[in-house]
Amino acid sequence: MSWQQRIGAALQARREADAWRQRPLIEQSDTRWLQVAGQRYLHFSSNDYLGMSQHPAVIAAWQQGAAQAGAGAGASGHVTGHGPYHAELEAQLAEWLGYRRALLFISGFAANQAIIHLLAEKSDRILADKLAHASLLDAASHTPATLRRFAHNQPESLAARLAAHCDGNTLVVTEGIFSMDGDSAPLAALAQQTRVANGWLLVDDAHGIGVIGEQGRGSCWQQQVKPELLVVTFGKAFGVSGAAVLCDDETADYFVQFSRHLIYSTAMPPAQACALQAALRQIQQGDEQRQKLELLIRRFRRGAAQLPWRLMSSDSAIQPLIVGENGRALALAARLRAAGFWLTAIRPPTVPPGTARLRITLNARHEEEDIDRLLEALYDAAGE
Ligand SMILES: *Cc1c(COP(=O)(O)O)cnc(C)c1O
Repeated sequence: MSWQQRIGAALQARREADAWRQRPLIEQSDTRWLQVAGQRYLHFSSNDYLGMSQHPAVIAAWQQGAAQAGAGAGASGHVTGHGPYHAELEAQLAEWLGYRRALLFISGFAANQAIIHLLAEKSDRILADKLAHASLLDAASHTPATLRRFAHNQPESLAARLAAHCDGNTLVVTEGIFSMDGDSAPLAALAQQTRVANGWLLVDDAHGIGVIGEQGRGSCWQQQVKPELLVVTFGKAFGVSGAAVLCDDETADYFVQFSRHLIYSTAMPPAQACALQAALRQIQQGDEQRQKLELLIRRFRRGAAQLPWRLMSSDSAIQPLIVGENGRALALAARLRAAGFWLTAIRPPTVPPGTARLRITLNARHEEEDIDRLLEALYDAAGE
């Protein structure tokens, strides 16, 4: 098949499966509301869980950082791109999360690729939760190591995988809070089994960091687990962008020596690191916002209990409603959109076939009345 034929066939299959993806043009957003094509919607699709992207201190820090250090880093950290804002942020993150070291990456996607590509060699194996993020599974499937998946959040399934013989090293991969289901991993049990098998645990806490645990330290802190590798991302509760890998001294040195994702990529803009320091301070003092978010989550779950769609068992800000077929999920999202709510229908291959869903995300900028209005609209849609 030529490139043209292959591309044409893939696009046609996408359309026919009701799986066509779009990038809506968001004209404005303050995390509670957004505007598309001149229309305002209540915004239930943001990962900006604490509204940090709108925080005046974070915005001011970015501006001051840029005024002081310029718009960009100008080079990779190995050349001349690593400055005081980066170094301070790394030190603050390491201290906050109880690790020796933190290394900054430009995105969570890049951090996950970097870890897995650096660590996984031929006789090794990667045991990943079945629902682990694409950035983890993609990376794992492109290494010479063997990738096996274990049943979602099931330590017994991991145990069965671990029992199989492996000549090399074992990396167990999971998330703190799962991005499409909103549920938490049983980290203590997974860590325990990984330790017994002499493996390393990698936890990607993209959706837990900042939102749960004391001072917002995330899923691992909350469950008192310290994985060998912790990935935190800054595009969600930090309201900015970027990521960090937390690890011990030697592992960090190994990354600095050998990680191509660090060596051959421009460091994050210094002003961004400055903004992230401000976001970190706000997160550390953010108990009030976290409590508000928790109240909103509880209010939503109480209210949604009688809906005809399955509400996933999630205590997090991610509250998916399982609709089933792609077409029905799209229709429900469209119905709600017409009523003034911005929600995203998530379809395969992002989620397993037959589990298309409305991914409802709550954030601390919502008010109780927003939740009530959403519930009302959902019950109206269910009644039709
Ligand atoms: C969003 C997300 C990522 C990607 O992080 P970016 O910084 O947006 O590239 C990685 N892992 C998980 C679990 C995520 O939800």
